[in-house]
Amino acid sequence: MRRLRNVKIVATLGPASNDYEMIRALHEAGADVFRLNMSHGDHEEIRVRHQIIRQVEKDLNSPIAILADLQGPKLRVGTFANGSEELEVGASFRLDLDDAEGTLDRVTLPHPEIFAALEPGASLLVNDGKIRLKVKDCGKDFANCEVIAGGTISNRKGVNVPDVVLPLAALSKKDLKDLEFVCQLGVDWLALSFVQRVEDVEQARELANGRAAILSKIEKPAGVKAFDEILKASDGIMVARGDLGVELPVQNVPPIQKQLVRKCRAAAKPVIVATQMLESMIDSPMPTRAEVSDVATAIYEGADAIMLSAESAAGSFPVEAVTTMNNVAAEVESDPIYREIIEASRSANRTSVADGIVAAAREIAETTDIKAICCFTQSGTTAALTARERPRVPIIALTSLKGTARRLCLTWGTNCVMTGEVERFKMAVVSAARAARTEGFATEQDQIVVTAGVPFNVPGTTNILRVAPCEERLIYRTDPE
Ligand code: PGA
Ligand code: MN
Repeated sequence: MRRLRNVKIVATLGPASNDYEMIRALHEAGADVFRLNMSHGDHEEIRVRHQIIRQVEKDLNSPIAILADLQGPKLRVGTFANGSEELEVGASFRLDLDDAEGTLDRVTLPHPEIFAALEPGASLLVNDGKIRLKVKDCGKDFANCEVIAGGTISNRKGVNVPDVVLPLAALSKKDLKDLEFVCQLGVDWLALSFVQRVEDVEQARELANGRAAILSKIEKPAGVKAFDEILKASDGIMVARGDLGVELPVQNVPPIQKQLVRKCRAAAKPVIVATQMLESMIDSPMPTRAEVSDVATAIYEGADAIMLSAESAAGSFPVEAVTTMNNVAAEVESDPIYREIIEASRSANRTSVADGIVAAAREIAETTDIKAICCFTQSGTTAALTARERPRVPIIALTSLKGTARRLCLTWGTNCVMTGEVERFKMAVVSAARAARTEGFATEQDQIVVTAGVPFNVPGTTNILRVAPCEERLIYRTDPE
């Protein structure tokens, strides 16, 4: 489906977006990628959503990426005899391994590894950082804390430990089961929560074994610190602002977002800006001005994708939320200042033949009247490099591999079209021109730029650039043979 914007939209599915009509409506309104959150929903529910997405993809003949988001080592307290307690500033509160129900004085924290890593002075944050505890004294099965910021603590609330690199496997037992389940179902992207080190990414990649691309969620100080290495080992990144804003002071999040988005573009890897983008639209059909501005900022920064969480998964206005993002994107991307910013931040660091060809393709397309840059891609790398140039003209990625077409749905400005296997360059040009015409990018009177690697089917060989007419008769007549 031809989109009139470049930034991609990721919509999380949940109870508010469970059936065929809603998922189709979300895709038609602009969702390019659907996120299955493994923290919620059992395997049967996930299987049904997955099947519906594939049905929509088939019915609309438009590739859709599915991103499965693993919960990761999310820490939670146990339960309370009263369901909840009010913690007051200055009070003492104990966390331990005792599985008795919690009281005003203590609660279970069923993670021995945490106690082993804690030190006096460390902070523990409960319930999205609303409650702050400071460790006074600790041992291998307890931590006595002082309440620094009080509030209601209730059953199974999440705990963040920002100051310590947790000696936890990035993949819990649940994650290992979920990973195998979604890989067998067939997902395009696997998102890893709370990535702390490059080894976390490597372990997931080994388990996925080529069945899904790996996206690292940056939501811990350790992940920010080791970012360059993590980016190198990953296929994509999510700026997971929810937990990031708990683990770090909230004011640190915007500069980190800017930095991560830039580095991802330089590495030609897609980056998603996530969480609370249109939070108020969970209950309201209208966003706040600040939220609209936040969405716009991510687009001006050049992010590949922007994401909806509860807005589309559990809110009352999922389609309106997607439509809002779509409208903001159309407006921002037609602003001349957007082009100025995007062009000013283009990296000139070119080292390969492919780097040179994609830069030349953009240059030619923007110099003359060219309707699209069509690139043949197997692994998706040439398309990603073309997208990194952020050209003014649309990018059409042509591939015979369904997995590549789907994965590229996350990449800025890339329209994916399936082709049959091509062996000769002339056939590639014919099929690019056809795709440009049928997808509504060009007419018979127009010209396109085609890039490819010959011989075909050998990844990383981009070595041809041709300016070609869209009319088939003319292609044959002007083909150099
Ligand atoms: P989550 O990740 O929604 O899985 O917590 C995103 C975030 O933390 O921002
Ligand atoms: Mn998170």
